[in-house]
Amino acid sequence: MKITSIKTTPLLVPYSKPYHWAQGVIEGAGVVLVEVHTDEGIVGYGESVSTPSAEAIVAYLKHAAQVCINRSPFQNARLMADAYHALFQAFGTCSSPRFGGRVLAGLEMALWDVAGKAVGRPAHELMGGAVHDEISYFGFAQGDTAEEVAADASELAAAGFEVIYFKVGRGDGLDIETTKAVRTAIGPDKRIRVDPNEQWNPIHAGRMIRKLMEYDVEAVEQPTHCESVAALAQVRASSPIAISADQVVFTHFDAYDVCRQSAADLIVIGLHETGGLTGLAKVAHIAEAADINICLHGLYETGITTCAANQVAATIPNLDDANQHMNRFLAWDIVKAPDLRPINGRLPVLKGAGLGFQIDWDNVERAKQAHLNSASIL
Ligand SMILES: [Mg+2]
Repeated sequence: MKITSIKTTPLLVPYSKPYHWAQGVIEGAGVVLVEVHTDEGIVGYGESVSTPSAEAIVAYLKHAAQVCINRSPFQNARLMADAYHALFQAFGTCSSPRFGGRVLAGLEMALWDVAGKAVGRPAHELMGGAVHDEISYFGFAQGDTAEEVAADASELAAAGFEVIYFKVGRGDGLDIETTKAVRTAIGPDKRIRVDPNEQWNPIHAGRMIRKLMEYDVEAVEQPTHCESVAALAQVRASSPIAISADQVVFTHFDAYDVCRQSAADLIVIGLHETGGLTGLAKVAHIAEAADINICLHGLYETGITTCAANQVAATIPNLDDANQHMNRFLAWDIVKAPDLRPINGRLPVLKGAGLGFQIDWDNVERAKQAHLNSASIL
């Protein structure tokens, strides 16, 4: 089998309401749909996060496509290495693993989709096989005010999510007010994780962690700057609350540094950081050797990423019991099936061929128009 063409389509899937976090407000998921077509008629699908410029990401993907045309889709690792070399190393710029991962993730996903469809098996069976029957997710409570976040948390707790996660780093007073309101709303038994998204330095983090103790918070995610493993290690050394590494880890090299420096109790990692399923598995294996769980990360993505992440997560023994997914925020999805709404905080491991989803082409057209409309506004 040979790859005959690679098609890229910028899309915007709007959120049902604005998404608030420490770095601002997000209105929707901007992605590039990647289609890998083959000479046997099999088509694989993936997506790359496209912000802030879909046109720029498409341009990179077109260069990557030139590396892949007329080659076998079963050579995933070699194609990705060659594409990374052609895009980021061949001209002496040497190293862009974080940006490179973001660009190439959609292509890597699509290659797994082709491979699975070619043999009529889910991708996880080609990656060593599932060690889980289902994937557990945390309830991601959203809102602008403490009352809004607490009301959302209450709804999620009632829906069966055991872990409630929400954003902090939005001002110390608001953060404590929100945490108190959430704890009151969900009662004493549900678990709480908070994410300040790098807004605290080690002294600030220590001060906030001491205050958060009163509300039985079990984990604080990436409190300090994304470039400093040392700062995260410093916080963790004196923190009575578990510390998660998020933006400080994109690659397996980053994961090794975090583990070596005992900088985290948990590594949060997603396909758009690692450049796809294979890279995520590498991070997980390094974390496993340090007896650390990994937690799936979510970005501004559609159900395509949820399904692709589900496939690789199924194969990871040290997968955490509270993973992130972002479908809940979409006004509508470009995945038609399966139903990606968790029941009691869980989704089954997907059994369909490839990445295990069917695309809703009417909604792809809507998302294409939404991207064009947003581009014309800019
Ligand atoms: Mg995070």
